[in-house]
Parts: sequence; structure tokens; C-alpha cells
Amino acid sequence: MLVVMKAQATEEQVRAVCERIEQFGYRAHPIPGAQRTAIGITGNKGAVEAGALEEMSGVQEVIVVSKPYKLVSRDVKEEDTVIHFADGDGSFGGRDLGIIAGPCSIESREQAFAIAERVAKSGARFFRGGAYKPRTSPYAFQGLGEEALKIMAEIRDRFGLRIVTEAIDNESLDLVAEYADCIQIGARNMQNFSLLKKAGRVRKPVLLKRGMSATLEEFLMAAEYILSEGNYEVVLCERGVRTFADHTRNTLDLSIVPAVQKASHLPIIVDPSHGTGKRDKVVPLSRAAVAVGADGLIVEVHHEPDRALSDGMQSLFPDQFDELMAEIRQIAPVVHRSVQEPSSNPAMAKAGK
Ligand code: PEP
Ligand code: MN
Repeated sequence: MLVVMKAQATEEQVRAVCERIEQFGYRAHPIPGAQRTAIGITGNKGAVEAGALEEMSGVQEVIVVSKPYKLVSRDVKEEDTVIHFADGDGSFGGRDLGIIAGPCSIESREQAFAIAERVAKSGARFFRGGAYKPRTSPYAFQGLGEEALKIMAEIRDRFGLRIVTEAIDNESLDLVAEYADCIQIGARNMQNFSLLKKAGRVRKPVLLKRGMSATLEEFLMAAEYILSEGNYEVVLCERGVRTFADHTRNTLDLSIVPAVQKASHLPIIVDPSHGTGKRDKVVPLSRAAVAVGADGLIVEVHHEPDRALSDGMQSLFPDQFDELMAEIRQIAPVVHRSVQEPSSNPAMAKAGK
């Protein structure tokens, strides 16, 4: 259920409607839009007493949202959600594409700094690096944990890059939320509902990756868990799904980008690294992702991929990433988007380059 307020409704009227909804025992989610405020109602088992709300001053109409996902839906919010960081630090969902780059895992301070310097010079505004790694084998490198988070906090200070890193369980979420600018929830945890709810109570943006076999509806319902707890800053990420095709690690489903954009106001970015698993496929699929209208990319980059402790096969060399950035700078304007130039990157000014 959704209460649509009149364009000229006052803040007081919005507040009164929210209070009435809470009196019914439900949760009210006021969502300001360009034209008017809408108030999403969650927590109701069946139809809410629409009549009582319809009669309140400032209310234009009360509508039933028929889709299972509500707060993430365009019915509730028509305009695209734009997730801003500080000025010049990059964003997701606006005209500029949000570009995240860095190694699969943080392996050492030297490794992380070497890669961060290169991706910042190429114009990325966000640095990725796993501290807690969800690995298929218990014998594979599991990440440096808090030490990696500390290294990334230093990288933010040194290069001005915003930090994106994964939380794999409730304990790591507390630490990741303390250090990172954006909390990643990986494909394997897309339906870890207690983790999603906990991420919904954190006041930091969440990067939610699509599960390996998740449908569009399951993907959006996972995001709904986060929004339903009060965190409206979610960036979705397509990272490939399991299919019969074995020429790539996963099958990158670029068609979900326009499908998400039709159904939801949330930004959606693409991960061509896990989406293909092969270095030589990463650049062409990145170009395609920008052309299809994605709101950004997350790309694995390593200065010595042959020695990487995870995902070296799909990591770009820094020079390749630099070239990729130059290419997408040309493609983006065709779809009315842009990619920030390295020269305008406050990160490098900060680093004294
Ligand atoms: C990652 O980003 O390093 C990762 C593990 O991704 P995914 O959850 O998509 O497999
Ligand atoms: Mn990886």
C-alpha cells in the first residue's frame, strides 16, 4: 500500500500520516520525490485501512502496490535513486557512471597501494578489495580480515578513493560498516535474510550482488529486505548467473539492466570480472554494460595477476583498465552518461600527483 501525498502537502501533513500508519502497527516509509512525497507502508499482513488514510489532509490517493516488492519499485518512487558521496567523490545512478576498481582480495599493503594508485590515476572513484572472502574451498585464501580494512582506510586517506568491501556474516558486517564507505553483500549471501536485515539497519550504502541463480524478482526482494529496515541506499549489481555455457565462468546477463531499470528506481551496475571469469572478456563486456545503460562497473584489477591469491585469471592489468576507462569515456555520451576524467580526480590532487 502506498499513500500518495498532494504536491503541496506540508511536512506536518506527511508526519501526521506516518504517525497514523504507525498507530495501526505498520511501518511508514516517507519517500520524497520531485513532484510529491509518497509514503510506503510495510509490515501489514493484508489490506490496510485505506479509508482512514484517504480522508487525512494532504493525501491525494491511497493505492495498492500489487507487486511483491514495494519500496524498491518505481510505483513507490518514479525518479531514479542517486547515491551520492561527498562532492567529486563519485556517485551511483546519476549522469556520471560509478566506477569501482581494485583487486579481488587485499593481499598486502604494498599490493593494495600499487593497485589503488593506478586505478585512481585512471579515474576510478571507488576502490574494491576483499577483506573477508567467501571461497569455495576452505583451504583457499580467506582474506586478511581487519588488517585489510585498515589498509583500505589508509588508501581512502592517501588517494581519496571511496572503499567498497564485502561483509560475509553478521560479525564482519560490524567491522566493514566501521571502515568502508559502501558495504558489499556478495552473490552467495544474496538471500542471507538476517544479513540483509542487519545491512538495512546500517547507515551506509549497500552494494547488493545478484545471486548465482536469482530471478529478477528474487533479486529485488533481497533489496527490499534492506530498504524495509530503513536503508534506502542500495546499488544492485549483475555479476553473471549459472547456465550450461562453459566458455565463461558465469553468463553475464546484461538484459537484467533494463529490466531492473523498468521495475525499480535503484541504480544497477555490472561486474564483468566475475561475470565472465576471463581477462580477455572483461573489456568487451564492460563496453557492452555501459552501452546497455548500466549505472557503473565493478572491475577486478591486479598489478601482478599471475601471483594473485584470488581471481587473477579475471583481473585486468592496470594498463588494460586505463584503456578501458578511455574507451567507456567515448561510449558513455551515446547513452547520455559520462565518466569522470582522471585530471579532475580530487584523489590524485590529494595524493600530490
Ligand atoms: C567479489 O566481488 O570478489 C565476489 C566474491 O563476488 P561475487 O559475490 O559476485 O561472487
Ligand atoms: Mn573476486
